Amino acid sequence: MDNKRDLLDMTFEELNGALIALGYPAYRAKQVHQWLYSGQLDINSMTNLPKDMRERIADQFIAGGLKIAKKLISKIDGTRKYLFELKDGNIIESVLMKYHYGYSVCLSTQVGCRMGCAFCASADLGMIRNLTVGELLAQILVIGHDIGERISHLVLMGIGEPFDNYDNVLEFMRRINREDTLNISFRKMTVSTCGIVPRILEFAREGIPVSLSVSLHAPNDEIRQRIMPVARRWSLDELLSACREYTKITSRRITYEYSMIENVNDSLECAGVLAEKLKGTLCHVNLIPVNRVEGIAFSKSSRKRIEDFKYTLEKYGIPVTVRRELGSDIMAACGQLRRNNIT
Ligand code: SAH
Repeated sequence: MDNKRDLLDMTFEELNGALIALGYPAYRAKQVHQWLYSGQLDINSMTNLPKDMRERIADQFIAGGLKIAKKLISKIDGTRKYLFELKDGNIIESVLMKYHYGYSVCLSTQVGCRMGCAFCASADLGMIRNLTVGELLAQILVIGHDIGERISHLVLMGIGEPFDNYDNVLEFMRRINREDTLNISFRKMTVSTCGIVPRILEFAREGIPVSLSVSLHAPNDEIRQRIMPVARRWSLDELLSACREYTKITSRRITYEYSMIENVNDSLECAGVLAEKLKGTLCHVNLIPVNRVEGIAFSKSSRKRIEDFKYTLEKYGIPVTVRRELGSDIMAACGQLRRNNIT
């Protein structure tokens, strides 16, 4: 692996400084910057730069370093799953979804994950490394360029735990929010965490109106610890109290993700206990029928179980939705992303 600097890791000011150091006039950085955020990451195709300049830049820098290794398009709903090869040969996955309000991407934040949730396909990969700001950016830029459309929404729910790569994730979100980059509003970004308590409290103080999802998946410590190792580090009470603090500081509604696993966390008793804990808080519960993952024995709850669970929460005045499943024919659903099938 070579150690070329990544143009996408740099702020505009840093890019400008680097090109001036190479002897180029200031307007050149602006041109390169425009190309990058238009999704053109092939330096040799930046056609308004002189050829020798393109060669010199390509010699010294990379732009994201991602290659599309594979692309799968769902026949059911057009959802696309991209497998990207990183500059060091590692593979990550990202998903593009089309909604009535626009295009949304689901991005990976790490190569692998060290959280070890029992129902998740990314768990057994272990954690290899964090993605850089440039690699976070490149996922959305390459996909936008590939489809030739503006991407308006983004969720950080792919492989990895975003709050385990906190600084890069925050820098990335601030970067794409800028008017001279992708101009994506913070309100159209969602970050999802398995519940790293100190980071939730830190995130509350960042002063950016990004939506927060918390993966709860259980109404008590006993069940939560069984399926989510992170629950041994912070109890459910500690987690929910951090969430209340988050809401107090930001006045923002938290979405609790709850994957419905047959005979594990889907009883009416579970629903009642959960409702007691969440009632009166500013929240929304998203029930996800757990997705099948090869080699994992969990089954999804029946429709009826999910409806009954939903009804119990609603009786307590808690807003609940059942997650629509997109891309089920290409293994693009929650928890199914993993760096496999590449040889
Ligand atoms: N690490 C972060 C974000 C990545 S996972 C987090 O834990 O929130 C995005 C969501 O998919 C999480 O709520 C996660 O718990 C859920 N998930 C993982 N595997 C799943 C599966 N097999 N079926 C349904 N949801 C799953």
